[in-house]
Amino acid sequence: MLDICLLGTGGMLPLPNRFLTAMLVRYNGRKLLIDCGEGTQVTMKLLGWGYKTLDVICLTHYHGDHVTGLPGLLLTINNSGRTEPITIVGPPGLRKVVNGLLVVAQDLNFDIIFKELPNKEQALEVGEFNISVTPVDHGLPCFAYAIEFKRQPLFIVDKAKENKIPQKYWKRLQYGETVVEGEKVYKPSMVQGDKRRGLKVAYFTDGRPNDRVINLIKDADLFICEGLYGDLESQSQAAKYKHMIYSEAAELAKGGNVKELWLTHYSPANVNIKEGLNNAKAIFSNTKLGKDRMTKKLNFSDD
Ligand SMILES: [Zn+2]
Ligand SMILES: [Zn+2]
Repeated sequence: MLDICLLGTGGMLPLPNRFLTAMLVRYNGRKLLIDCGEGTQVTMKLLGWGYKTLDVICLTHYHGDHVTGLPGLLLTINNSGRTEPITIVGPPGLRKVVNGLLVVAQDLNFDIIFKELPNKEQALEVGEFNISVTPVDHGLPCFAYAIEFKRQPLFIVDKAKENKIPQKYWKRLQYGETVVEGEKVYKPSMVQGDKRRGLKVAYFTDGRPNDRVINLIKDADLFICEGLYGDLESQSQAAKYKHMIYSEAAELAKGGNVKELWLTHYSPANVNIKEGLNNAKAIFSNTKLGKDRMTKKLNFSDD
């Protein structure tokens, strides 16, 4: 039901066998993309999930390796026949950056809805995507993202009958609304079963670790995180340029109690990406090296 694809795993510049980092989420046939560096539409083409149903694009920050693929991708979506609007989410500066890129992508047949968010923790809903952001330290406004899919508790007919709930209110209560009729108050808990676990995927690149990120990624099913290098000697270099190494990503994964960590945003100088993986695994055992177009299917635990 929920499919995740890590479209690319490179940082700074695309390499012949390594596209720039980006993540694609597909849920009930609708799609959300995080980041859009040069070549993102090419790796999307190789993946084959199509362009037309891309509803939301979230940008982490405005370094070129995360945004310069945008005009080409929007033109391709336009050619796919899309007319519904696309929502673009990002930290302060969004309109200026996107409008600048759109100078070379005019006359789109769909509107762009800008969600330029202030530089603070917050959440918004776009269609079925529940998006949470937290600011991170990368030397310019930059967000880490969590995308969640909530699960309504089951509707229990016997419970609704027992509580003498008029049938005309069943649907509203099931969708979480409290209904007041005269003196009577009908609550969702009067027709619903136990709480059910949803699904959550988190994405953080680029930046330095902080406690807010641990909170954002809490209990995620999958956490995709930057690891510029694996070897511990590169830590100070990575920190100087406001990046992370594998073991720092693993510390976050452990702190956030996530189920699985995929590393991404490797430095172009990081040729042997396996080097240093064990440092990360020693901290968080379910750490995997991200590879271009690596995918994962996630199901609700009660499905
Ligand atoms: Zn980057
Ligand atoms: Zn950056």
